[in-house]
Amino acid sequence: MGEVPSVVSGSVSRSLGREAQRNTILAAKVVADIVRTTLGPKGMDKLLVDSSGIVSVTNDGATILQELALDHPAAKLLVEVAQTQEREVGDGTTSVVVLAGALLERAGLLLDQRVHPTVIIAGYRKALTQSLQQLPLLGRDVHSSAILKQLAMTAMTGKGAEGMREELADLLVRAVETVGTTQLDRSLVSFVCFSGSSVGGSSLLSGVVIDKGKVHQGMPSSVSEAKVLLLDIPLEFKSPETQTSLSLTSPEQLERFVASETDYIRSLVDRIVASGATVVFCQKGIDDVAQYYLAKAGIFACRRVSKSSMEHLSKATGGAIVSSIDDIPQAVFGYAGLVEEVVHSGEQYVVVTKCKNPQIVTIVVRGGTEHIVAETERALQDGLGDIVAAVSQGKIVAGGGAVEVALARHLRGYARSLSGREQMAVEQFAYALEVIPEALAENAGLDPLDVLGELKRRHEHGSVSEGLNLLSGNIEDCFSAGVIEPMRVKEQALRSATEVATMLLRIDDVLVCAPKPQQKEVLE
Ligand code: ADP
Ligand code: MG
Repeated sequence: MGEVPSVVSGSVSRSLGREAQRNTILAAKVVADIVRTTLGPKGMDKLLVDSSGIVSVTNDGATILQELALDHPAAKLLVEVAQTQEREVGDGTTSVVVLAGALLERAGLLLDQRVHPTVIIAGYRKALTQSLQQLPLLGRDVHSSAILKQLAMTAMTGKGAEGMREELADLLVRAVETVGTTQLDRSLVSFVCFSGSSVGGSSLLSGVVIDKGKVHQGMPSSVSEAKVLLLDIPLEFKSPETQTSLSLTSPEQLERFVASETDYIRSLVDRIVASGATVVFCQKGIDDVAQYYLAKAGIFACRRVSKSSMEHLSKATGGAIVSSIDDIPQAVFGYAGLVEEVVHSGEQYVVVTKCKNPQIVTIVVRGGTEHIVAETERALQDGLGDIVAAVSQGKIVAGGGAVEVALARHLRGYARSLSGREQMAVEQFAYALEVIPEALAENAGLDPLDVLGELKRRHEHGSVSEGLNLLSGNIEDCFSAGVIEPMRVKEQALRSATEVATMLLRIDDVLVCAPKPQQKEVLE
C-alpha cells in the first residue's frame, strides 16, 4: 500500500497508480479463475457453503459469485457484471466474467509495455464495435422450434439434470409456444419446485400455482371447468384498515349488530353465488362467515393472494381483477379447466391449470432432492433465457468457441488497419476472446493449444462455424452439430465484459475506507 498523505484519514487504505492497476487486474483474474473451470458442458461444479451454512452445488456463474463475499472493489464490479448478464439475458454469466478477466489480463501485458490505459481503452472500444458489426454476419436466423430446442439443450448441457436435457428442452419449447411468441418475456414462464420425485416428473402446466390453500375445509378440493372470479375487495364485514370502535350498551344491540354483519356478508356471498362463480381468488381477507357461506355454496376460495399472484391468475385464466361485486359482468370471469388444492411437504398449493390460451404458464420442476431441483431450475432458467433471447432477436450463432475464434480472426485483420499501439490493443482483445474455446477445451481435459490451433487453421480455410463440440469430442460445424447460442447473449457478454474492463482500466487510485468504529455506549 502506498504512503497515506495526511489529508486522508489513517483508516483509509489506499493504493495508487500502477500498483492500483496491478491489484485491480489481479482481483479480476482471481474472480475469473474461480468460474473459469465451470465453463461449458464439461465444466466442473462448485460446492458452496453460504454464511448461514446452507450448502448448494452449482455450475452457474452468477450463482457462484453471488455467494462469495469478495472484498476487492474490482472483484465486486465483476460480480455485478455477471448479475447484469443474468438479469438481461439469463445465460452467459460465466462467459462474461471469463472474458472480462481475460481482457484485463491482456491489458496488463500492454501496461507492462508502457501502453497508456486510455490507448488500451480506445483500442478495446474499437474492437468491440468491430465485433458487434461482424457478429450478425456470422449469425443465422431462427426459423423453427427444433432450433429453439437445440438452443435450450446447448444451454443446459453440463448442468444439473444432464440426462433429462431433451425432455426439459421440450418442456421449455412447449412453454414458450403456449404463451405465444410475440412479446415474449421470461416472466411469462414461471417455475415451481417440488422435491421428492425425479426430474423426469417435471411437467408443464397451462396455468399457475399459488402457494395458498383453500380457506375452508368444507370447500371442494378440486373444481373442474372453473368459472374464476378475481376479487380485490375484502369479504369481511370491516377490513382492518377501516375498523372503527363501536360501543354497544345492551345484549340486544350486540345481537342486532352481529345479525346485520352476518346479513351483510351473506349478501356479498349471495351475489357471488348468483354470478355463477365456482372459484374465488381474493387479494384481501375472507372472514369466517363468508368462508362458511362460500363453502356451503360449494365455491372454492383462497384469501390474501398476493398482488403478483393475482396478476398471474388474470393472465392465465383471462379473468379481470374486480373491485366491486355490485354487478358482476360475465366478461370478468376467467376460465380454468381444473383448479385443485395439492399438499406438498406439508405445504398447501392451489394449482390452476388447463386454461384456454393462457398468457402465462408454469413449469413444475421436480427432482430427488432440493439441491437437484434447485440446479435443474437454474438450468431451465438458462435454457429459457436463451430461447427468449433468440426469439426476440431472431438470430443464433455457433457455440463451442466457434464465434469467438471467428471474431478474433476478424479483429486481427482489422487491427492491421490501425496505428501501432491501438493495433496492439485490438490484437490483445482478439487473444482474450480465444480464452473461451481454450477454457472449453481445458475443462474437458483436452489440450487447449492443440484445439485452438486446429480451430484457427480451419477458420483460416473459411469454415467460420467450426467449433469444439464436446458432445462428440470433435471439432466440427457447430450449426450442424446443434451447438448454438443466441446472438443476443454473445452481444451482451461482449458489451458488458468490455465495459467493465475499460472501466477498471481507468482506475489509478483505490481508496478503501475502514468501517467506522462502533461508538461505545458510556454507561454511567
Ligand atoms: P455460461 O454461464 O457462460 O453460459 P456455460 O457453462 O453455460 O457458461 O457454458 C457456455 C459455453 O459452453 C458456451 O461458449 C457454449 O458455446 C459452450 N457449449 C455448450 N454446449 C457445448 C457443446 N456441446 N460443446 C462445446 N461447447 C459447448
Ligand atoms: Mg450457459
